[in-house]
Amino acid sequence: MTVRAGLIEAIGSTPLIELKTLSAATGCRILGKAEFLNPGGSIKDRAALFIVRDALDRGLIQPGGVVVEGTAGNTGIGLAVVGNALGFRTVIVIPETQSQEKKDTLRLVGAELVEVPAVPYANPNNYVKVSGRIAAKLASSEPNGAIWANQFDNVANRRAHVETTGPEIWEQTGGAVDGFVAAVGTGGTLAGVAEALRARRPDVVIALADPLGAALHSYYTTGELKAHGSSITEGIGQGRVTANLDGFRPDVSFQIADDEAIALLFDVLEHEGLCLGGSSAINLAGAVRLARQLGPGHTIVTVLADSGTRYQSKLFNPDFLRSKNLPVPAWLERRSTVDR
Ligand code: PMP
Repeated sequence: MTVRAGLIEAIGSTPLIELKTLSAATGCRILGKAEFLNPGGSIKDRAALFIVRDALDRGLIQPGGVVVEGTAGNTGIGLAVVGNALGFRTVIVIPETQSQEKKDTLRLVGAELVEVPAVPYANPNNYVKVSGRIAAKLASSEPNGAIWANQFDNVANRRAHVETTGPEIWEQTGGAVDGFVAAVGTGGTLAGVAEALRARRPDVVIALADPLGAALHSYYTTGELKAHGSSITEGIGQGRVTANLDGFRPDVSFQIADDEAIALLFDVLEHEGLCLGGSSAINLAGAVRLARQLGPGHTIVTVLADSGTRYQSKLFNPDFLRSKNLPVPAWLERRSTVDR
């Protein structure tokens, strides 16, 4: 245990936690990288730091400047806390469908929020495109510079995982990692960790866990970008091959429906005390599928990307779950059994 010099130094070096319920059910050792313990509360702190550092190194921005981004929330929170620590303003464009908790957190940590309707990427009013236009405008007027973080196609994002997340997993397992599985938002995590692990062990099995509504499972299994269905998860579910996915291919791909994933989310909360977000649920389901495919005795690592507290009004709200035709676990509706 050492002192971290500040928020920037507190990003990364997260614990790897054994998921006992899933390990017992599969006979594998299933480990979760506890990214919800980063200072901004998610895996995206790592990408945020690498993107800002890259812009600083290139002289595109200096303290006092502005970082602009389109995000489902977590990258924005990461950029805002890194921005506060390094002296930047943060302007965040977010689809209005994202959880209230993430929007409240963004405002709390000082981001300027621009909420836009959720429209597909092809639409010029998509949140990513709006953020790019705002950044271009500010770049011509801000004396200390303004950058578009552009997490989807800025490979400083993937580099964060090649240089930190992947090597940490390797060291924490003593090189005993047989498989890694994760969902894709930008692809930085999956492609970056894959690159780091494959460089150290070429036969490690890398798996994609894709939610319904995403097109990558179809792309990697048939060559066609095709999507069907939808998911209540946030921050994942990609419809195109981003620059962060360029040159990457998973060894295995799974498509996972919400009901399969959410059941595991409630299991790990009820039996292990881990309160996780929806993308982690897809990752847990992917880890179980990979464990069944590889057979007992293997070590499989996945990502616990953020906390369930970020989705209390959705994932952990019986009315919301019922409105999406998802099962409501009994204990979620349990009232106090104690008389005062
Ligand atoms: N889980 C959550 C909760 C996220 O916010 C994100 C990023 N949008 C991801 C997973 C996906 O990570 P990546 O962008 O590295 O693919």
